[in-house]
Amino acid sequence: MVKSRPLSATNMAKNSPKEPVSSWLDYDFFKEEQKSIPALTVILRTAGCYWRKCTMCGFWQESADVSPADIIAQLEHSLRNSPEEEFMLKIFTSGSFLDEREIPSETRREIAAIVRKRKRIKKLIVETRPEFVTAAKIADLNGVAHLELAIGLETADDFIRVKYINKGFSFNDYRAASKIVMECGATVKTYLLLKPPFVSEKKAIRDVISSAELVAPYSSTISLNLCNVQKYTVLENLWKRGYYRPPWLWSAVEAIKAIKRKDITVTSDPVGAGHKRGPHNCGKCDHEIKETVKEFNITQDLHVLERQADCECKAVWQEVLKYDDLLFDSTIV
Ligand code: SF4
Ligand SMILES: [Zn+2]
Repeated sequence: MVKSRPLSATNMAKNSPKEPVSSWLDYDFFKEEQKSIPALTVILRTAGCYWRKCTMCGFWQESADVSPADIIAQLEHSLRNSPEEEFMLKIFTSGSFLDEREIPSETRREIAAIVRKRKRIKKLIVETRPEFVTAAKIADLNGVAHLELAIGLETADDFIRVKYINKGFSFNDYRAASKIVMECGATVKTYLLLKPPFVSEKKAIRDVISSAELVAPYSSTISLNLCNVQKYTVLENLWKRGYYRPPWLWSAVEAIKAIKRKDITVTSDPVGAGHKRGPHNCGKCDHEIKETVKEFNITQDLHVLERQADCECKAVWQEVLKYDDLLFDSTIV
């Protein structure tokens, strides 16, 4: 999964090659200095992901025919919103930053030069599928402070990733790519997906917790993506027919707490929280939980989550965990 977009992001002119898909400013945890700093996220419009087969992903809709000059213009456009203080820059495409079809090597080097020149940029994060990770491509970004490569593994379970998400790569592919990244002196951020299609609420929680343990040796940070229903996807089709419900926010809180208790740095952007296509609870407690998760992201303080007040819908969620799991794979008689 590519980094999700908050509903408050500045959405640019539809499919304009000179403007990014969107960009926004918020805060993120700067692990290297154990503190929160501003983060500028930019979604560059490129030719888009070549794979385009993941069951929950509709990001191919953001692709366009763009030139290398357009890509640089998009970045410059977003950097006009840079904060005054030190910040981290996250550059995502609706695909892979290291795919030549999206960002040619020369353009990557140009982007690195732009980043190096701006001394206030303390960290650069870009995202890629593992098959594009090579030492030569990472070398295009030489000299950039605190380079991090984000990989959308989604789950350490090959069966779920291949059969339910249709991701097209294995856990071993992810591991091999991560090793290359680390050998090049950069760090890895791993995206895990809470509740892919065809997985019960309870199994989804178990899956991200066990996945987090398995990816921890390779990951500087784990980012938990809470699955949302994007338009024109297989997942939307299932959702419309009542075969899918996005994860409960209680599930997200439960998973984040369990991962953090293993002393793993974990963040989660609750995109679309409280909306019917996004992760949601009963409607009354959604906003408060979303704010709690956001506060946890930048503090990494477990107490923030543990202090979260209960809501009457928590009992419903607990029943869902029991019965959804029990009935999920059962034969209807
Ligand atoms: S790899 Fe899958 S989730 Fe990521 S952009 Fe491509 S189709 Fe979407
Ligand atoms: Zn509630």
